[in-house]
Amino acid sequence: MTAANRVKLASGLYFLATPIGTARDITLRALDILASADVLAAEDTRTLRRLMDIHGIALEGRPMVAYHDHNGAVARPRLLAALAEGKSVAYASEAGTPLVADPGYQLGRAVTEAGFMVTSAPGPSAVLAALSVSGLATDAFFFAGFAPTAKGQRQSFLRSLAEVPGTLVFYESPKRVHKMLDDLVEVYGQTRDAVIARELTKKFEEVRRGTLADLVEELHGVTLKGEVVVLVARGESSGFDEDDTDILLKEAMAAGSLKDAVAQVVATTGQPRRQVYQAALRLEKEGK
Ligand code: SAM
Repeated sequence: MTAANRVKLASGLYFLATPIGTARDITLRALDILASADVLAAEDTRTLRRLMDIHGIALEGRPMVAYHDHNGAVARPRLLAALAEGKSVAYASEAGTPLVADPGYQLGRAVTEAGFMVTSAPGPSAVLAALSVSGLATDAFFFAGFAPTAKGQRQSFLRSLAEVPGTLVFYESPKRVHKMLDDLVEVYGQTRDAVIARELTKKFEEVRRGTLADLVEELHGVTLKGEVVVLVARGESSGFDEDDTDILLKEAMAAGSLKDAVAQVVATTGQPRRQVYQAALRLEKEGK
């Protein structure tokens, strides 16, 4: 038995969202499209076959085309040719919504530029699932995708997002979460609220909430597995301006080392360590 209906599809490209964990999170419309499209394209054809098997949808001799980051230049013309013949093409990425940290952007552009229809069957995406369970503000958010893996680049990337007036949402590998949290503290300070949403919609779903400093402490020595979204609450003014920081730093530097002074002022103001450290270096230079 299958929940899918064979329907007559207009010619065009159908971007299908697929589950990010639980297979039954697929929409009925996505199943209809999978049962009906003339050509099926997927980032990973085995994953899509498995999903179709779970939902009892047969391929019935229809072509299944692999389309991913490494073969786009070759696969795109093939899909465009099918559209030129008036066919319907369904595309699913490995999981969630295509184009969201997944392939599909260049395909969508090429198809619209060629004048063919592009539509979507919306559904799961880890960004929205994570925001829903986070408890952080959702009125405005910024999806930042994966941060660069090199420390220096990651820190400048984070700095470029410091003033975003909304919740920040990052995708992250579980292996890099600790380093990412360290850099988040370094760049944004200890006190911003944050959330680690792991294995959403799956058996071991877990949501950890706290300040950035709390999460660093909580995850110390903990190995995370599975898939992870990191969210950081919008920055709020610490209530201390540059002049306040300078006054506090001068007092603290008069009483102890630069390092201790920085630590003390970071603890008092909640300002990012890097910002306070730069101010301390400037004051030290000015004092010489
Ligand atoms: N296109 C997908 C979407 O719409 O969410 C994202 C694909 S991206 C290659 C994969 C990343 O999404 C993972 O590394 C993780 O950061 C996040 N992700 C995907 N599924 C997740 C899940 N079930 N729980 C938490 N994060 C998930």
